[in-house]
Amino acid sequence: MQFYFIREISKLIFGKRALSSFRQRQRWIVRHMPLFLCLAALGCLTPGPPRYKPADDRAGKPSYSLSNNRSIVRDVSVAAEEDSQHQFTTSELAFEKDSRGREHAIYVLKAGEALYSAVVVRFCGAVIAEEVNVLAEKIMAYNGIKNSSMIPTGAKIKIPIEYLGEEILLGKKTYRSSSSTRASRLRTPARLGDLHVILDAGHGGTDPGTTVRGWSEDEIAYDVMVRLKRLLERKGALVYPLVHDADTRDTPQSGRTIKNNRNENVQVTPPYKMDDSRVAVNMRVYLVDDIYRRLRRSGVRDEDIMLISIHLDHLHPSVNGVMVYYPDAAERPATYAPSGNIYASYTESRISTIQYDSRENEQIESESYEFAERLIASCKRLRVPVHEYEPIRRFVNRSGRRWTPGIVNFSRVRTSVLVEAANLANNGDFNRIRSAQFRQRIAEAIARAIF
Ligand SMILES: [Zn+2]
Repeated sequence: MQFYFIREISKLIFGKRALSSFRQRQRWIVRHMPLFLCLAALGCLTPGPPRYKPADDRAGKPSYSLSNNRSIVRDVSVAAEEDSQHQFTTSELAFEKDSRGREHAIYVLKAGEALYSAVVVRFCGAVIAEEVNVLAEKIMAYNGIKNSSMIPTGAKIKIPIEYLGEEILLGKKTYRSSSSTRASRLRTPARLGDLHVILDAGHGGTDPGTTVRGWSEDEIAYDVMVRLKRLLERKGALVYPLVHDADTRDTPQSGRTIKNNRNENVQVTPPYKMDDSRVAVNMRVYLVDDIYRRLRRSGVRDEDIMLISIHLDHLHPSVNGVMVYYPDAAERPATYAPSGNIYASYTESRISTIQYDSRENEQIESESYEFAERLIASCKRLRVPVHEYEPIRRFVNRSGRRWTPGIVNFSRVRTSVLVEAANLANNGDFNRIRSAQFRQRIAEAIARAIF
């Protein structure tokens, strides 16, 4: 049998002529057999594509900064030469250089499109009103446009390359795990009772968050949180609210408005009355970590713990729909230790320092992103509007700096997301969120992303 095998391999390699000097060929194959075996073993042991695309994707690539335009232009051209895959991902932009060698993208404005939403929000990644307005003014000056409302359909808008958003420049990153079975696990009824969901409602106490015509962010967020809590508990999940409103408690509000009160506490021990918004966020971070550690110690698996924080936004009025923030592994500090004596007075914050592990950070980013995708898909299924161009983000640019919400940026919970349920500065979003039915629909969309 062995003899037959060697003869066949010999025939394959050397052709029919091998028969004439068969003994010679046979010796050659036997002599080289260890080499073949080594190569075969190497082929089997070589790992497939990494589950997590490491952060060095970003190493050496430009970080988007309005205040450092010159270095970006240089870095971008180097990056583009280095890796053609990272070149501009949108087919709707063309690129050219002007007579002075400045590179810009060109977008042809379609009927009904406005500079703010169709260009600045879409291609520059800006959403905060001030950022959108500053960039719009710069782009108008670059194009010699005096009035943004007088731009005709078909106008070619030149966008200096340094104003393009990082995701447009470098291509969408895929920090998703290819082998995760989390989705199917979570949908298995037998496991619903094992799911632990930490829920947060943004702001509260002396900090109402953003307020529009008597509607305050903290009360709306709390109402959505309470609705979500009910839905999850009905499915058998264990829910840990970080915040408690002593006035409205666990009751969803359905009146013409939700009266703003200052009676929200962070549920640390003893409860922290939210007198200082910065301390209130830090207390939440400590509380999340405390709940997480307790659950892990009691044998709960990482994949069965989630953190969902609910907020409402105040962005440029042209922006609407749900946006989801998830933690950026590259932005994580090594430790979290806010200074202040107040933290020694509460059981959960007494530990003073939370430490992070880079490998864990990558997993958290990966799994949080994956859940964010499911959440956006769930919103679309329930006809809850989502941000048109980039609903899932790791950060926003604030005054040229990256900013990721602290509650997710410092969370060690494997799936941590912050949901901006609506933009209160957008008329459509504002009108929708005032309706109790719509708030229920958002809670439903989040719950269905979990189950
Ligand atoms: Zn907020």
